[in-house]
Amino acid sequence: MKWRGARGSRNIEDRRRMSKGKTGGVGLVGILVILVIGAVFDVDVSSLLNATGGSSVSSSSATLPKEDKAQGEFVSATLGYTEQIWDEVFRTQVGRKYNHAVLVLYKGVTPSPCGNASGATGPFFCPADRKVYLDTAFFTTLSRKLGAKGDFAAAYVVAHEVAHHVQNELGTLPKANKARQSMNKTDSNRVSVMIELQADCYSGVWAQYAESSLGVIEGGDIREAVNAARQIGDDTLQRNAGSRPMPHTFTHGTSEQRQKWFARGYKSGRMDQCDTFAALN
Ligand SMILES: [Zn+2]
Repeated sequence: MKWRGARGSRNIEDRRRMSKGKTGGVGLVGILVILVIGAVFDVDVSSLLNATGGSSVSSSSATLPKEDKAQGEFVSATLGYTEQIWDEVFRTQVGRKYNHAVLVLYKGVTPSPCGNASGATGPFFCPADRKVYLDTAFFTTLSRKLGAKGDFAAAYVVAHEVAHHVQNELGTLPKANKARQSMNKTDSNRVSVMIELQADCYSGVWAQYAESSLGVIEGGDIREAVNAARQIGDDTLQRNAGSRPMPHTFTHGTSEQRQKWFARGYKSGRMDQCDTFAALN
Protein backbone atom coordinates (compact mmCIF):
# COMPACT_ATOMS: atom_id res chain seq x y z
CA MET A 1 0.00 0.00 0.00
CA LYS A 2 1.26 3.45 -0.83
CA TRP A 3 1.27 5.44 2.39
CA ARG A 4 4.50 7.40 2.82
CA GLY A 5 3.80 11.09 2.60
CA ALA A 6 0.05 10.57 3.01
CA ARG A 7 -1.72 13.26 4.99
CA GLY A 8 -2.72 10.89 7.76
CA SER A 9 -5.58 11.12 10.21
CA ARG A 10 -6.09 13.69 12.92
CA ASN A 11 -7.98 11.12 14.97
CA ILE A 12 -5.01 9.24 16.39
CA GLU A 13 -4.75 9.35 20.16
CA ASP A 14 -1.12 8.46 20.73
CA ARG A 15 -0.57 7.08 24.24
CA ARG A 16 2.72 5.40 23.45
CA ARG A 17 4.78 7.80 25.51
CA MET A 18 2.64 7.38 28.61
CA SER A 19 4.30 5.52 31.43
CA LYS A 20 2.85 2.14 32.15
CA GLY A 21 2.57 2.68 35.90
CA LYS A 22 -0.70 4.58 35.71
CA THR A 23 -2.80 1.93 34.11
CA GLY A 24 -2.81 -0.70 36.86
CA GLY A 25 -4.47 -4.09 36.57
CA VAL A 26 -7.83 -5.14 35.25
CA GLY A 27 -10.20 -4.98 38.20
CA LEU A 28 -13.48 -6.80 38.53
CA VAL A 29 -15.19 -3.64 37.34
CA GLY A 30 -13.24 -3.80 34.11
CA ILE A 31 -14.28 -7.40 33.55
CA LEU A 32 -17.96 -6.61 34.15
CA VAL A 33 -17.80 -3.69 31.76
CA ILE A 34 -16.45 -5.97 29.04
CA LEU A 35 -19.48 -8.22 29.41
CA VAL A 36 -22.01 -5.40 29.47
CA ILE A 37 -20.77 -3.17 26.72
CA GLY A 38 -19.82 -5.77 24.17
CA ALA A 39 -16.43 -4.71 22.97
CA VAL A 40 -15.44 -6.41 19.77
CA PHE A 41 -12.32 -8.44 20.41
CA ASP A 42 -10.81 -9.80 17.28
CA VAL A 43 -8.11 -12.28 17.87
CA ASP A 44 -7.96 -14.94 20.53
CA VAL A 45 -4.32 -14.52 21.33
CA SER A 46 -4.38 -16.74 24.42
CA SER A 47 -2.47 -19.51 22.69
CA LEU A 48 0.21 -17.05 21.63
CA LEU A 49 0.49 -15.11 24.84
CA ASN A 50 3.81 -16.42 26.06
CA ALA A 51 5.29 -15.43 22.73
CA THR A 52 3.76 -12.04 21.98
CA GLY A 53 5.60 -10.05 24.62
CA GLY A 54 2.43 -8.09 25.19
CA SER A 55 3.62 -6.54 28.41
CA SER A 56 7.02 -5.41 27.30
CA VAL A 57 7.58 -1.71 27.53
CA SER A 58 8.04 0.79 28.79
CA SER A 59 9.33 4.17 29.20
CA SER A 60 7.97 7.57 29.78
CA SER A 61 10.64 8.99 27.55
CA ALA A 62 9.70 11.66 25.10
CA THR A 63 11.07 9.96 22.02
CA LEU A 64 9.86 6.87 20.25
CA PRO A 65 12.10 4.39 18.46
CA LYS A 66 12.25 4.91 14.71
CA GLU A 67 10.30 1.76 13.98
CA ASP A 68 7.44 2.83 16.27
CA LYS A 69 7.36 6.20 14.60
CA ALA A 70 7.06 4.61 11.16
CA GLN A 71 4.33 2.23 12.32
CA GLY A 72 2.44 5.14 13.83
CA GLU A 73 2.63 6.97 10.52
CA PHE A 74 1.46 3.87 8.69
CA VAL A 75 -1.56 3.49 11.00
CA SER A 76 -2.32 7.21 10.71
CA ALA A 77 -2.19 7.02 6.91
CA THR A 78 -4.41 3.92 6.90
CA LEU A 79 -6.91 5.51 9.28
CA GLY A 80 -6.87 8.60 7.05
CA TYR A 81 -7.75 6.39 4.08
CA THR A 82 -10.63 4.84 6.01
CA GLU A 83 -11.95 8.36 6.69
CA GLN A 84 -11.75 9.46 3.06
CA ILE A 85 -13.34 6.22 1.87
CA TRP A 86 -16.13 5.90 4.41
CA ASP A 87 -16.94 9.59 3.91
CA GLU A 88 -17.50 8.78 0.25
CA VAL A 89 -19.28 5.45 0.78
CA PHE A 90 -21.64 6.90 3.39
CA ARG A 91 -22.43 9.80 1.06
CA THR A 92 -23.05 7.64 -2.00
CA GLN A 93 -24.37 4.38 -0.54
CA VAL A 94 -25.92 5.27 2.81
CA GLY A 95 -26.99 8.87 2.29
CA ARG A 96 -25.60 9.94 5.62
CA LYS A 97 -22.63 11.70 7.12
CA TYR A 98 -19.86 9.48 8.42
CA ASN A 99 -18.56 10.32 11.90
CA HIS A 100 -14.89 9.44 12.19
CA ALA A 101 -13.54 6.97 14.72
CA VAL A 102 -10.66 7.66 17.07
CA LEU A 103 -7.80 5.19 17.13
CA VAL A 104 -5.77 4.83 20.32
CA LEU A 105 -2.17 3.80 19.74
CA TYR A 106 -0.63 2.34 22.87
CA LYS A 107 2.25 0.21 24.00
CA GLY A 108 1.92 -2.59 26.50
CA VAL A 109 -1.29 -1.77 28.31
CA THR A 110 -3.81 1.08 28.45
CA PRO A 111 -7.23 1.54 30.07
CA SER A 112 -10.47 1.70 28.10
CA PRO A 113 -14.16 1.73 29.13
CA CYS A 114 -14.22 -1.87 27.84
CA GLY A 115 -11.43 -2.92 30.20
CA ASN A 116 -7.69 -2.72 29.77
CA ALA A 117 -6.27 -3.05 26.29
CA SER A 118 -3.14 -5.19 26.21
CA GLY A 119 -1.28 -7.89 24.36
CA ALA A 120 -3.83 -10.29 25.85
CA THR A 121 -6.80 -8.55 24.25
CA GLY A 122 -5.26 -7.81 20.86
CA PRO A 123 -6.77 -4.97 18.83
CA PHE A 124 -10.44 -4.21 19.48
CA PHE A 125 -13.19 -1.68 19.01
CA CYS A 126 -14.89 -0.31 22.14
CA PRO A 127 -18.42 0.98 21.43
CA ALA A 128 -18.59 2.83 24.77
CA ASP A 129 -16.07 5.48 23.70
CA ARG A 130 -16.18 4.66 19.96
CA LYS A 131 -12.44 4.08 19.84
CA VAL A 132 -10.23 1.46 18.26
CA TYR A 133 -7.39 0.24 20.52
CA LEU A 134 -4.22 -0.92 18.80
CA ASP A 135 -0.70 -1.81 19.89
CA THR A 136 1.39 -2.03 16.72
CA ALA A 137 3.27 -4.92 18.35
CA PHE A 138 0.27 -6.90 17.09
CA PHE A 139 1.52 -6.42 13.53
CA THR A 140 4.61 -8.42 14.48
CA THR A 141 2.40 -11.15 15.96
CA LEU A 142 0.35 -11.09 12.80
CA SER A 143 3.35 -11.49 10.58
CA ARG A 144 5.52 -13.85 12.63
CA LYS A 145 3.08 -15.95 14.64
CA LEU A 146 -0.06 -15.89 12.54
CA GLY A 147 1.57 -16.10 9.12
CA ALA A 148 -0.10 -12.94 7.78
CA LYS A 149 2.73 -11.01 6.19
CA GLY A 150 2.79 -7.72 4.32
CA ASP A 151 1.74 -4.16 5.00
CA PHE A 152 -1.73 -4.73 3.62
CA ALA A 153 -2.34 -7.50 6.16
CA ALA A 154 -1.78 -4.82 8.81
CA ALA A 155 -3.96 -2.34 6.90
CA TYR A 156 -6.71 -4.96 6.78
CA VAL A 157 -6.61 -5.22 10.58
CA VAL A 158 -7.06 -1.45 10.91
CA ALA A 159 -9.83 -1.50 8.28
CA HIS A 160 -11.57 -4.39 10.06
CA GLU A 161 -11.61 -2.55 13.41
CA VAL A 162 -12.87 0.62 11.73
CA ALA A 163 -15.55 -1.54 10.09
CA HIS A 164 -16.87 -2.32 13.60
CA HIS A 165 -17.11 1.43 14.14
CA VAL A 166 -19.07 1.64 10.87
CA GLN A 167 -21.42 -1.08 12.17
CA ASN A 168 -21.78 0.87 15.39
CA GLU A 169 -22.61 4.07 13.51
CA LEU A 170 -25.26 2.22 11.51
CA GLY A 171 -26.80 0.67 14.62
CA THR A 172 -26.04 -2.88 13.51
CA LEU A 173 -23.56 -3.56 16.28
CA PRO A 174 -25.65 -2.41 19.28
CA LYS A 175 -28.68 -4.24 17.89
CA ALA A 176 -26.75 -7.48 17.48
CA ASN A 177 -25.09 -7.18 20.87
CA LYS A 178 -28.44 -6.59 22.55
CA ALA A 179 -29.90 -9.66 20.88
CA ARG A 180 -26.91 -11.73 21.96
CA GLN A 181 -27.54 -10.98 25.63
CA SER A 182 -30.62 -13.21 25.72
CA MET A 183 -29.12 -16.03 23.68
CA ASN A 184 -27.34 -19.19 24.68
CA LYS A 185 -23.62 -19.34 23.98
CA THR A 186 -23.87 -21.19 20.68
CA ASP A 187 -26.45 -18.79 19.21
CA SER A 188 -24.56 -15.80 20.56
CA ASN A 189 -21.42 -17.09 18.83
CA ARG A 190 -23.36 -17.44 15.57
CA VAL A 191 -24.38 -13.79 15.71
CA SER A 192 -20.80 -12.86 16.52
CA VAL A 193 -19.71 -14.64 13.33
CA MET A 194 -22.25 -12.58 11.35
CA ILE A 195 -20.89 -9.36 12.86
CA GLU A 196 -17.30 -10.33 12.12
CA LEU A 197 -17.88 -11.52 8.56
CA GLN A 198 -19.73 -8.30 7.81
CA ALA A 199 -16.71 -6.37 9.13
CA ASP A 200 -14.53 -8.43 6.77
CA CYS A 201 -16.88 -7.63 3.88
CA TYR A 202 -16.78 -3.90 4.75
CA SER A 203 -12.97 -4.17 4.84
CA GLY A 204 -13.21 -5.53 1.30
CA VAL A 205 -15.39 -2.59 0.25
CA TRP A 206 -12.74 -0.32 1.76
CA ALA A 207 -9.99 -2.11 -0.18
CA GLN A 208 -11.94 -1.65 -3.43
CA TYR A 209 -12.14 2.10 -2.85
CA ALA A 210 -8.48 2.23 -1.78
CA GLU A 211 -7.73 0.84 -5.21
CA SER A 212 -10.24 2.53 -7.49
CA SER A 213 -10.83 5.81 -5.70
CA LEU A 214 -7.54 6.53 -3.92
CA GLY A 215 -5.16 4.50 -6.11
CA VAL A 216 -3.01 3.40 -3.16
CA ILE A 217 -3.10 -0.36 -3.73
CA GLU A 218 0.08 -2.03 -4.94
CA GLY A 219 0.69 -5.45 -6.47
CA GLY A 220 0.25 -8.22 -3.92
CA ASP A 221 -1.77 -6.09 -1.46
CA ILE A 222 -5.10 -7.80 -2.00
CA ARG A 223 -3.43 -11.20 -1.75
CA GLU A 224 -1.92 -10.14 1.59
CA ALA A 225 -5.34 -9.19 2.95
CA VAL A 226 -7.00 -12.38 1.72
CA ASN A 227 -4.19 -14.42 3.23
CA ALA A 228 -4.57 -12.56 6.54
CA ALA A 229 -8.30 -13.28 6.52
CA ARG A 230 -7.47 -16.95 6.01
CA GLN A 231 -4.82 -17.12 8.74
CA ILE A 232 -7.13 -15.69 11.39
CA GLY A 233 -10.11 -17.92 10.61
CA ASP A 234 -11.36 -19.72 13.72
CA ASP A 235 -10.73 -23.20 12.34
CA THR A 236 -7.17 -22.35 11.35
CA LEU A 237 -6.43 -20.67 14.70
CA GLN A 238 -7.80 -23.64 16.62
CA ARG A 239 -5.89 -26.11 14.46
CA ASN A 240 -2.67 -24.12 14.87
CA ALA A 241 -3.23 -24.15 18.63
CA GLY A 242 -3.23 -27.93 18.44
CA SER A 243 -6.94 -28.58 18.83
CA ARG A 244 -9.65 -29.95 16.59
CA PRO A 245 -11.86 -27.11 15.25
CA MET A 246 -15.15 -26.85 17.17
CA PRO A 247 -17.66 -24.91 15.04
CA HIS A 248 -20.03 -24.05 17.92
CA THR A 249 -17.21 -22.08 19.54
CA PHE A 250 -16.42 -20.05 16.42
CA THR A 251 -16.89 -16.30 16.90
CA HIS A 252 -15.28 -14.89 13.74
CA GLY A 253 -15.94 -17.44 11.01
CA THR A 254 -13.86 -20.04 9.23
CA SER A 255 -10.90 -19.20 7.04
CA GLU A 256 -12.99 -19.91 3.98
CA GLN A 257 -15.81 -17.64 5.15
CA ARG A 258 -13.49 -14.79 6.08
CA GLN A 259 -11.76 -14.88 2.69
CA LYS A 260 -15.07 -15.17 0.89
CA TRP A 261 -16.69 -12.18 2.60
CA PHE A 262 -13.64 -9.98 2.22
CA ALA A 263 -13.55 -10.87 -1.50
CA ARG A 264 -17.27 -10.19 -1.85
CA GLY A 265 -16.87 -6.68 -0.48
CA TYR A 266 -13.77 -6.08 -2.56
CA LYS A 267 -15.27 -7.26 -5.84
CA SER A 268 -18.57 -5.41 -5.48
CA GLY A 269 -17.44 -2.32 -3.58
CA ARG A 270 -20.95 -2.30 -2.17
CA MET A 271 -22.11 -2.35 1.44
CA ASP A 272 -25.43 -3.92 0.45
CA GLN A 273 -23.49 -7.02 -0.59
CA CYS A 274 -22.40 -7.43 3.03
CA ASP A 275 -25.67 -8.56 4.61
CA THR A 276 -24.24 -11.51 6.50
CA PHE A 277 -27.26 -11.48 8.81
CA ALA A 278 -29.57 -12.41 5.94
CA ALA A 279 -27.09 -14.74 4.25
CA LEU A 280 -26.22 -16.82 7.29
CA ASN A 281 -29.58 -17.01 9.00
ZN1 LIG B 1 -13.87 -8.00 14.36
